[in-house]
Amino acid sequence: MRSLQGPVEDLASTALENKIAEQPALNNGHANGHANGHTNGTTTTTTLQPLDASKLTIRRADPTAREVPDEDTACSGNETICTDHMITVTWDASSGWSAPELKPYGPLSLMPTASVLHYATECFEGLKAYRGYDGKLRLFRPDCNARRMLMSTLRISLPGFDPAELEKLIMALVAVDGTKWLPKSRPGSYLYLRPAVIGTQPQLGVQAPKEALLFITASFMPRMDTPPGGMKLHTNPEDMVRAWVGGFGYAKVGANYGPSLLATVEARERGFTQILWLYGPEGYCTEAGASNFFVVWRSKEGRLELVTAPLDDKLILDGVTRRSVVELARERLAGELEVVERRYTIDEVLEADREGRLVEAFAAGTAFFICPVSQIRHRDTDVHIPMGKGEIGQYTAKIKGWISDIMYGNEQHPWGVVVDEQ
Ligand SMILES: *Cc1c(COP(=O)(O)O)cnc(C)c1O
Repeated sequence: MRSLQGPVEDLASTALENKIAEQPALNNGHANGHANGHTNGTTTTTTLQPLDASKLTIRRADPTAREVPDEDTACSGNETICTDHMITVTWDASSGWSAPELKPYGPLSLMPTASVLHYATECFEGLKAYRGYDGKLRLFRPDCNARRMLMSTLRISLPGFDPAELEKLIMALVAVDGTKWLPKSRPGSYLYLRPAVIGTQPQLGVQAPKEALLFITASFMPRMDTPPGGMKLHTNPEDMVRAWVGGFGYAKVGANYGPSLLATVEARERGFTQILWLYGPEGYCTEAGASNFFVVWRSKEGRLELVTAPLDDKLILDGVTRRSVVELARERLAGELEVVERRYTIDEVLEADREGRLVEAFAAGTAFFICPVSQIRHRDTDVHIPMGKGEIGQYTAKIKGWISDIMYGNEQHPWGVVVDEQ
């Protein structure tokens, strides 16, 4: 019989935090080529190639082969239109990360037995590159996305990496494709960046993959932040949950999204944009579709509050947009309203509505950006949420304006990271 190899805590959910803390790159600022053998749960130290953006090789597509469509045309079909290039990096358990490749956009080749296709060993990120009104190309807090992708990757037993190297690879793709695909003649436009890691080992059997692929694409994505009449939310069916305590709702893993579509499809058929996911018999408000959810209300005591679900129970995704809203509102609306991260229920929202205390609500995420919510349907009750005098409430508009100014270079801010174009 095999003896126990490590402390029992390694089996607890905190094991993920330990794994992240053990990432060599996060300890000394540099990937040092050591990684913990993760396939058998022991901590054998072997020398593996770390993810290294400086090894990037570049094979360019013919730049005249494809023209850049206008935004509306690009988003009108049933296929996401990507830019000329993508980045791929392979990993295997015996040698580590290969040299990253920037190459023409095209299909991947996978065996039908690849881990990802059977066991959902997939995680992803979503961020945008913005063409500023000052002509510069920017990313918004890409360090946050890179760190979150490391966390998601480790959650599904895919290989770790130095998030700073991932950030450099994202920058490299934008540097090569940004000039053509986000032309200076289109200030205020953006591209959607999608880094992902998948388990590629062609072997059936539920196990941590010994082969993986990291890839990054850049594409068009429709603007979703100003739906006519605002975003309409339908609460989830009573017998369905998106995420649960002890689950993985806080990680951006593909396994969270496929199963949510059953409810989303039904809600769309009824004319709603997204599901407002509630949790538990209490009906805690968690997220709106794949974005975070905020309510502005007056408390019973008359205080103006910006309320959103907390991160500490690990039910919701730690959105970069959410984080930015919370930080900016704390800094710039201090004295005017209080930012409150706490569990709150749909009944509290309904009560605030009945008592005339509901001020505004919005969804926050990279895809929907800051999107005003005008209606919530819960069972047989409809809540109509004020959107100021028009299509957006004043606090929603203020916060959206601040973030947008940072993204598009109207305000110089450390969150707006300029990409040097090639
Ligand atoms: C991606 C995502 C968000 C938004 O995160 P951002 O970093 O702001 O884009 C919120 N909730 C879920 C479930 C998500 O997948």
